[in-house]
Amino acid sequence: MRLSQMLFVTLREDPGLAEIPSHKLLLRAGYIRRIGSGIYAYLPLMWRVLQKVSQIVREEMNATGAQECLLPQLQPAELWRESGRWDTYTKAEGIMFALIDRQERELGLGPTHEEVITTLARDMIRSYRQLPLHLYQIQTKFRDEIRPRFGLMRGREFIMKDGYSFHTNEDSLKQTYQDMQQVYSNTLRRAGLAFRAVDADAGAIGGSGSQEFMVLAEAGEDQVLYTEDGKYAANVEKAVSLPTKVQSSAFTTYEKRETPQTQTIEKLCQFLKCSPTQVVKNVLYQTVYDNGMTVLVLVNIRGDQEVNEVKLINELTKQASQYGAKTILALTVPDTEAQQKWATKQLPLGYIAPDIEDSYIRSEKQLHPKFLRLVDITVIDLKNFVTGANESDYHVVGANWGEQFQLPSQVVDVRKAKPGDRAIHDPNQTLQSTRGIEVGHIFQLGTKYSKALSATYTSEQGEEVPLVMGCYGLGVSRLAQAAVEQSYDQDGIIWPVAIAPYHVIISIPNITDTKQVQAAEQLYTQLNSASIETLLDDRNERAGVKFKDADLIGIPYRIVTGRSLANGKVEVVERKTRKSQEIPLLEVVSTLKQWIDADQVEEK
Ligand code: ATP
Ligand code: MG
Repeated sequence: MRLSQMLFVTLREDPGLAEIPSHKLLLRAGYIRRIGSGIYAYLPLMWRVLQKVSQIVREEMNATGAQECLLPQLQPAELWRESGRWDTYTKAEGIMFALIDRQERELGLGPTHEEVITTLARDMIRSYRQLPLHLYQIQTKFRDEIRPRFGLMRGREFIMKDGYSFHTNEDSLKQTYQDMQQVYSNTLRRAGLAFRAVDADAGAIGGSGSQEFMVLAEAGEDQVLYTEDGKYAANVEKAVSLPTKVQSSAFTTYEKRETPQTQTIEKLCQFLKCSPTQVVKNVLYQTVYDNGMTVLVLVNIRGDQEVNEVKLINELTKQASQYGAKTILALTVPDTEAQQKWATKQLPLGYIAPDIEDSYIRSEKQLHPKFLRLVDITVIDLKNFVTGANESDYHVVGANWGEQFQLPSQVVDVRKAKPGDRAIHDPNQTLQSTRGIEVGHIFQLGTKYSKALSATYTSEQGEEVPLVMGCYGLGVSRLAQAAVEQSYDQDGIIWPVAIAPYHVIISIPNITDTKQVQAAEQLYTQLNSASIETLLDDRNERAGVKFKDADLIGIPYRIVTGRSLANGKVEVVERKTRKSQEIPLLEVVSTLKQWIDADQVEEK
């Protein structure tokens, strides 16, 4: 491609609004353009990158026997009502764009395709002989993200590869799941990315396994906890660990103490000169179930620990049926305004005890009359602990379960694991922390969707049984930007060769010099016919501008048809290392071919 003929506009200045390097660079280098909030145009250079990523994904997927298809993006609401997801996906914090057509039919724009694919499976898979089966597609997905940001990292329209597999049993599902671990690892390695596969939250579905593939980068929105022996890595949402040891209590007798201005654990411990491991902290949450019922939740947890809200959401979802509901719509920490909607009187915030009375909750139809009291395992063995006195400016010390307080019957694990905690598999290992960009998520679904949508098959024994399913997502557009986030310098992008839009850019320093132009044209033809994807910068620009642009757009190799032509040579510069070499004209094609092949083997 000739740059003179391309829609090629680079920006010298940092674009406003962009916060992270990859977003800035893709905008500046003319790869993407913002059209609206979370909505981007993929310009020609970007489209080539996205197609390269897609091609790697295709090759790896096809090698496992998975088949590509393309499913509709417009999805009838009935399918989502059948699976029970319409309300959660379209109301409150739901992310599905919903619309009504001229016949008053409700539709959603596909954020994911479990419902559609399970409907197909229900209609088309009749017998165990058709199984296992794995279909995938590469397609634009729509999600009404509350906070779209960082360009393609969190868009409202983005490209995803999503695959769905169907099986007769869990073992067959596990086999495909393992194949997908391999596919994702191969794909990321070939794309030249440093990554880590981590245990992931499987949500309320539970399921037997779920992993995320994290591209390691400071700008990542996810926190990963891992051990140095390489045996454990998990998303903090899912991570487990042993909490730090409890320090024995300084209080031997039960007493109520005046503790003015000690709403926080830190202030309280300073005031009482005690360790936060001796404190029972009582955290108040408010949850709304999908039938409109609001439930107030009180979690008792050790003072030095935090609640992991993802774990708490899973716990509350498990309890939904107790409240006549299927799932939860929202979980919040009620602020003063929210409290006024349900509290009969001012709550002793910062001084709440595990036995705070239910009479704080107004009697109303959509309000559950009792606190849901959950006790985290970190506090059940505490002796002589400190906790609130249900009265502002007062705490109690030297308290014990079974004496002053009744231990709530529901013991849960909702603690957030944190860096420095001891690992469960080996307490000598401590958890380390790093940040990651989630580019893929693989999931053993089991029978959640097949049961809900009655997708069954006839087994070898002649019985009608629900299909066992897996699903596997990979963010194609997010992956492409993540590659930039991992590989750039002060001058611009440094694409891994396998996903660079072009392998080589030929910069003609002076287009009025016919020798320079001739040599460049000849190389351009030769390189392209040797399948080395080449850009020709034949614009009428100063050499300095051309070199700056070449660095900015990050093409792996730059050829300069400059002074060395006098000796029958051109200058070839590697973008990554900036190493420059003079290479005889006749050897340029073979040398570059060798380098580019070697780069891609390395990436493999
Ligand atoms: P996240 O936690 O980042 O919101 P998710 O867990 O909702 O993502 P999945 O439903 O697992 O995402 O989707 C599969 C993959 O699609 C993700 O691993 C990610 O790479 C990509 N993806 C999800 N949401 C977006 C988005 N808004 N913009 C770009 N890519 C996305
Ligand atoms: Mg995910």
